[in-house]
Amino acid sequence: MLADKDRIFTNLYGFQSWKLDAARLRGDWDDTAALLARGQDAIIDTMKASGLRGRGGAGFSTGTKWSFMPKAPTPERPSFLVINADESEPGSCKDREIMRHDPHKLIEGALVAGFAMRARAAYIYIRGEYIQETLVLEAAVREAYEAGLVGRNACGSGYDFEVVVHRGAGAYIAGEETAMLESLEGKKAQPRLKPPFPAGAGLYGCPTTVNNVESIAVAPTILRRGAAWFAGIGREKNEGTKLYQISGHVNRPCVVEEAMGITFRELIEAHCGGIRGGWDNLLAVIPGGSSVPLVPAAEIMDAPMDFDGLKAVGSGLGTAAVIVMDKSTDIVRAISRISYFYKHESCGQCTPCREGTGWMWRMMERLRSGDAELADIDMLQQVTKQVEGHSICALGDAAAWPIQGLIKHFRPELERRINAKGGGNDAGVGMLEAAE
Ligand code: SF4
Repeated sequence: MLADKDRIFTNLYGFQSWKLDAARLRGDWDDTAALLARGQDAIIDTMKASGLRGRGGAGFSTGTKWSFMPKAPTPERPSFLVINADESEPGSCKDREIMRHDPHKLIEGALVAGFAMRARAAYIYIRGEYIQETLVLEAAVREAYEAGLVGRNACGSGYDFEVVVHRGAGAYIAGEETAMLESLEGKKAQPRLKPPFPAGAGLYGCPTTVNNVESIAVAPTILRRGAAWFAGIGREKNEGTKLYQISGHVNRPCVVEEAMGITFRELIEAHCGGIRGGWDNLLAVIPGGSSVPLVPAAEIMDAPMDFDGLKAVGSGLGTAAVIVMDKSTDIVRAISRISYFYKHESCGQCTPCREGTGWMWRMMERLRSGDAELADIDMLQQVTKQVEGHSICALGDAAAWPIQGLIKHFRPELERRINAKGGGNDAGVGMLEAAE
């Protein structure tokens, strides 16, 4: 359990003001010039030593990612920091809490991170639907400019650094880092082929690092309190604190900062008042946002809620958006609804994703109603394997994994529905119905 003294986000629930004066009282912008005076390499070394892994889902070492940026950018090819505030993963709702209640943590983090990677500007790409969050963030950026904290000679450090807030238009795929760069450039948010990676050729063809809001917002505190402090929380290779977002069938859904490696049971008991109807009523959990496979109740109970702990039970930490489902859930319908989401959000560039997501959703609808044949389950499994790993970006994988998790853990339920309909021979009708 995380001790209160180790919390980074002390205004997560907005009990205090988000404004600069209140943020300063919480320790933000406290002699930031001294942090910058340590120098770029020292900052990156501290971030590496802290063990911080990207909080947007991929889990790559944040300090290492920063170190990929050029050491001597030229005026013709400046470096940029892009902060991914698109937060569109179903179940995820942590970055919005940072932006509306603690925006100065993010802005100070942007300066520190941008300085460390020798960037001349940070673009915060915020989800279009986050209207209130945008208003607060823009006002906080204005405050930071007026106080001389960013802009020319930021914090009196002699370093010039601009911060730009950019609203997206509401496409899930804009959260993919290269699609985000396309969108920032004024084009359709469609992922790019990699390589080149953004650190080589990113925004406007210049070196760019894309980081999640939480990864950036924790950076100043890590630098102030030291790498050893952060690395002392959690488990080896899964260090630090994390914002968990627990939704679904718990008694008190919430967003909470906790130590990485807390078990699922501890997390729910300590912060959510337990499972609705008691622990025996738990059916399954999607532990990292809709794109990771579900985990049945028995396997998730004592799993550490971190990168390695959830990988060991066949799922992933993702954004730590924990979706809890009790036994009242129609699990096939729930996964089918997720399939529809991915079909809807596919950008259409690659055939396996464009065609596969629609096909998988239609098949899921047939399985939901039982209008299928038993052999369809294996066929669906095969198709998920043909989509997984065969597309430009990870949306194809994200569409395949929830279905794979369903088949792996709930095949008897799929078979029961088909058998209840007598084997579901008229599959074609089911297809048509689903498509309507
Ligand atoms: Fe677009 Fe899907 Fe291909 Fe990603 S995998 S680039 S979303 S078509």
